[in-house]
Amino acid sequence: MLYDTLVIGGGVAGLTAATYLRRAGKTVLVIEKNAFGGQITWSPRVENFPGFVSISGTELGDKLLEQAMEQGAEVELDEVVSVRTGENGVRTCVCESGAEFQGRSLIIAVGAKPRMLGLAREEELVGSGVCFCAVCDGDFYAGQDVAVCGGGNAALQDALLLSEKCRKVYLVHRRGGFRGEQKLTEALEKRANVEFVMNARVTELLGGQELEGLVLSQEGQRRELPVTGLFVAVGHEPDNKAFASLMALDDAGYVAAGEDCLTESAGVFVAGDCRRKSVRQLTTAAADGSVAALAACRYLDA
Ligand code: NAP
Repeated sequence: MLYDTLVIGGGVAGLTAATYLRRAGKTVLVIEKNAFGGQITWSPRVENFPGFVSISGTELGDKLLEQAMEQGAEVELDEVVSVRTGENGVRTCVCESGAEFQGRSLIIAVGAKPRMLGLAREEELVGSGVCFCAVCDGDFYAGQDVAVCGGGNAALQDALLLSEKCRKVYLVHRRGGFRGEQKLTEALEKRANVEFVMNARVTELLGGQELEGLVLSQEGQRRELPVTGLFVAVGHEPDNKAFASLMALDDAGYVAAGEDCLTESAGVFVAGDCRRKSVRQLTTAAADGSVAALAACRYLDA
């Protein structure tokens, strides 16, 4: 089947785009490689999305998916590894499974992947002490001592969640103040089992097959933290390489497109965190999804 639009990425941007496209009567397939809802499914509590006083990230993701499917969007769990352009402008998405899907237009909404600290053995210890999602993996560390690294909302939320399960939570941040919300910082200050470790960087991961501790450099001093879990929450970086032939990427790897979500390839649009922008929030991802969808509608109707 030839779809009007293929949406690559089923996070907030992609699912919003799908809902808008369906309401404009377009056929749409959303292709997602991990979990519908995207990064938000890693958030234990979302309290800044309009209309919801408080909702878990997975529940919000489920609601966005339900809304898009209720409107008639089709969905597929697979990873797009490359895109071919036919002579008639039709784009073919080639997936990891070998499946191929065709669309008259394309919205790329692939978000961003967690940034790593770049430490020796970090990759090797993923799943054996090094984690990127407290919601997903926190239960494995119940009753143990863990560290969270980062100073944004994700790190603060991870530390709050882990403080409910773990014996001790060290929140390690490279500066003297957090970038995340004051309200979250205040909540953490009230937790007796949370220790802020400020002006500190993780320099080494200790242990054999499993993580057994961290070496920190804190204000020029060496310090060891005996933890079995390290939750890395130092932001995200784009993963746009599969689409680099379709559109220009900036030096950091984000799609160099403006607020209009247009790329230099006719019929190819970009939405959400994978686009160059100054504010990456759920609300701006949703906004991008609607802008890209309406731009795709104009392209399809021209
Ligand atoms: P972020 O806001 O970009 O924060 C990343 C943090 O990691 C910063 O504190 C940064 O330090 C630190 N960092 C970056 N690279 C580092 C490195 N190599 N070593 C040590 N520390 C490093 O990322 P985020 O917390 O993932 O949040 C991303 C966006 O999603 C934000 O806009 C956030 O508000 C939003 N968010 C929203 C919710 C929600 O509930 N609605 C939940 C989570 C996230 P510096 O401060 O020194 O730069």
